[in-house]
Formats: sequence, C-alpha cells, structure tokens
Amino acid sequence: MAEKKKNELAEKLLYKPKNGFDRLSAAEEKAMNAYCEDYKKFLDRGKTERLCVDYCVELAEKKGFKAYRAGMKLKAGDKVYHSNRGKGIMLAVIGSEGLENGANIGAAHTDSPRLDLKPRPLYEESEMAFFKTHHYGGIRKYQWVTIPLALHGVVMRADGSSVAVHIGEDEGDPQFIINDLLPHLGREQGKKPLNEAIPSESLNLLIGSKPFADSELKNRFKLGALQLLNEKYGITEEDLISAELEVVPAGKARDTGFDRSFISAYGQDDRVCAYAELAGIFDAKKPKKTAVCIFADKEEIGSEGVSGMLSQAFEWFMGELCKSQGVDLRECFAHSFCVSADVTAAYDPNFADVYDKKNAAFINYGVGLCKYTGSGGKSGASDASAEVVGKLRKLLNDNGVFWQMSELGKTDAGGGGTVAKYMAKRNIDTIDAGVPVLSMHAPRETVAKLDCYMTYKMMKAVFESA
Ligand code: MN
Ligand code: MN
Repeated sequence: MAEKKKNELAEKLLYKPKNGFDRLSAAEEKAMNAYCEDYKKFLDRGKTERLCVDYCVELAEKKGFKAYRAGMKLKAGDKVYHSNRGKGIMLAVIGSEGLENGANIGAAHTDSPRLDLKPRPLYEESEMAFFKTHHYGGIRKYQWVTIPLALHGVVMRADGSSVAVHIGEDEGDPQFIINDLLPHLGREQGKKPLNEAIPSESLNLLIGSKPFADSELKNRFKLGALQLLNEKYGITEEDLISAELEVVPAGKARDTGFDRSFISAYGQDDRVCAYAELAGIFDAKKPKKTAVCIFADKEEIGSEGVSGMLSQAFEWFMGELCKSQGVDLRECFAHSFCVSADVTAAYDPNFADVYDKKNAAFINYGVGLCKYTGSGGKSGASDASAEVVGKLRKLLNDNGVFWQMSELGKTDAGGGGTVAKYMAKRNIDTIDAGVPVLSMHAPRETVAKLDCYMTYKMMKAVFESA
C-alpha cells in the first residue's frame, strides 16, 4: 500500500483524541477565559449548598426566571425556578414542544465534602475552646489540618427565628484551624496508615482561648466563646443544636499555573458542572424541548434526604410543569434525556498506578463522558446504553464540543457514583459527563479551564437539542 493511502486509512479508522489546545480557536479561547471569570465568582459566592442556591436565584432572576408558584400558567419560553428549602434548586425553560415529548435535563449537585459541626459542638480543654466536627462526605482527613477554615450556615434560635453565620472569608475576618502534631513528636503518628493518622474525633476546630473574666468560674473558656457568639448572633449554646454550620476551606478560587490554564478552588465537585448547566440554560436559544436544571444537595452522602436527588421534590416540580400541559409525568420521564453532570477523576501522573491510561480522562481533552460509574464490576452503576452514549457523542461532535471517554480509574483501584442511577431509575435515559478533576474531594481541587468551558458548551447543546 502506498504511504499516502496508508495514512488516509489510519486517519479514517483510528481513534486519536487530541489535546484541546491543538484544536481551540483564538475566539474560543477568549470565550473560555471570560466564562471562567464568571465561574470563579460562582465558586467564591457558593461556598456551601445554601449559598449556591442563593446565588443561583440572584443570577436566574436577572435572566428573567420567576419563582414557580403552584398552578402558574406556563407558555413556551417561560422561565421558572423552584428553591427546594434553600438547599437545592430546579430551573426550567419551557420548550415549544409539549412535555409528552420529554425534557432535556441536566442534573448536578452543589453539596461538597466538608466538616459539619456536631449537634453539641462546643467544649473547652486545657484552657482553649473548640468545636467538635463530623465530616460530611468522603474526605482524606489529613488534608484538613492546619489549613485556614471558614464557618458558614444557619442557626435556628429558641424563639424560632434564624440567623445566618458567615465568618472567615472576608479580609480581616478571623479564621479557624485544626491543629496537627509537630514532626518532632510525630514519630508514632508517622508510622500509621494515611487514613488512620488523623482520627475523626481529632478534627476539632480551634475557636478561642480568651476566658470570661472571672478566674473562679467553671467553663470560663467555653463561656468566653459563647459570650462572643451571643453578642454577634444572639445565640446560646442550646441554639447550636438546631443549627447547620459547615466548616469549609477559607479563600477564593484562583488561576493556577504560569499560563493560568487551571483553576484551583474548594468545592469544584460538583459546582463546576452546576455552573456549566446554569450558564448553559441561560444561553440556550429557544429550546424545543423543555430544558431543566437540577442542583441537588446530599449527593456526597448518598443522595438521600428531602433535598437529595432521591427526594420527590423533583417529581413535584416536574409534575407541576406536566400538569400545566395536561401531560402524565411518567410519559414525560419516558421521553426525557438527562446528563448527570458530575466530575470525574483526571489522570494524574503522580499517581499513575491507579489509572487505566487507555481509559482515563486527561486534562484539556474536554468533557469526560462516563458510560458507567460504580465499583467492583460496575456495581451500583446505571450503565448508559450504546444508544444513549451514541446520542450524546453525535450531539457533541455536531456542536464542536471537545469530549473524551473515561473511567474513574483502574477496575480494582476503587470507584464512585453519581446521581445518574437515580435519574435512570425514574425511567429517564441518563449518562454521566463532566469535568475531569485533579485532587478530587481535597480542600482545593484543580480543573482545566478548557474542560470547564467544554462542559458549558455540552450543556448548552443538550438544552438546545431536539
Ligand atoms: Mn460529584
Ligand atoms: Mn464527590
């Protein structure tokens, strides 16, 4: 075979993914950078699931979305949202086609691994005051000591009123910290396996050391802290029982690398995909099918609970939209298409042995599609069909979206899951796709701007698709 012919054949038959920077136009790079500036604002404003909802509502209202009221009359082009108890949110743009033809759905989650305060968190020990914590989601505990921490959340007071707490983010705010052992005395600790070196019960937040001014009084270090909390928030120790206070890494999203090609920040799993959905639904031009975004809470602890993806809140919202058109919700679900927009692991050459390099997601190769998640032989995966993968693949190719096929890691290395299976369970064709992340679940996770932008382009294309 002639050389030219061989090359042509290779070009035609072999699958050779390319680095996105070898394909990205200058105009697209500019759009990518602009997109990522807005995305970083989203990260800075949305340090918790509640703050994400607040910011989504603010942005959505600016784009003409209205809070959905039961029985509201809806017509093509109308934009509505529903906040699920301030902890999750659903948004919809009503399509020109009826909901009996199904909806195009993006499902992401806006909760991230963190440390929650225990119901009775406050104690004093050796003349210092602390808050006890209980970690939320899968964390590597050793990563959470000696880093600057902020506190966000809400406290319900005895009289039924609530007060918001946000401390540790603003310049000049005090922050909090969890102490670690000095290396000089760490000989025994250093011999322990990584996941045992820092026990959960030692993740205690240092909150103060100035006692109440009476050296005879018992608990005066606790009282000193409570006095400040009472002055600032009007709360007592018992009020902390009816509170949701979340300890998260303090600080803002930052460009990373000399070339600024990465973003490092807390909580990018899964706010990076949530923002892609949000920007995608804002920018989608005249959707034929109704476009729906859901940002669920509780994904990191199994999607249970009233604000999780398993909650009937989703049926309620979709059911309301269907009712307004006299459509059976089951009919709508049966014809719907869902992208479970969640992050995947990016190949990290520092830890090459846990990845199957032939099936890993690479930085700057675009949005990572996952046919299945789960562990130990796809256990717990919804496993998208060839038809569903084929549909998304074609849509992405037709719309110039850079994408790659991926698995989380080696089959025997571990595994993970997303909300995909809970959408599929509802009789909705579903596939996982999202941004590859370095250091997933760490206090600061790292993503490539190119992959963030491609995930936005994917979501926009999904919402505009027939
Ligand atoms: Mn996730
Ligand atoms: Mn996660």
